Amino acid sequence: MSWIERIRRWLETWRPRRSVDAPRPAGPLPMVLQQLEATREIELSCDEVHAVLDQFAELVAAGVDAAALMPLVQHHLDHCPDCREEFEALMRVLRSAPGS
Ligand SMILES: [Zn+2]
Repeated sequence: MSWIERIRRWLETWRPRRSVDAPRPAGPLPMVLQQLEATREIELSCDEVHAVLDQFAELVAAGVDAAALMPLVQHHLDHCPDCREEFEALMRVLRSAPGS
């Protein structure tokens, strides 16, 4: 399975906690746009960020615009020094890992 397929599946399972009023999007792209729109209102907890942080870091390490795909995670990292530190530690590991 390609990484973009993995992202799509991941996004399709994503359920922002406070967007129950929003209509269910038809596919991955509207979901991404909805996430972008929701960035200002929804905040993830540190636990939720930790749950997807390795995926997020892998995307960044792969040169993907992870902030656009997971704006809620990026938003949290921008405001939470603890998670930011965790993310940077992950990035160091990914960057120092031998090519897969
Ligand atoms: Zn945090």
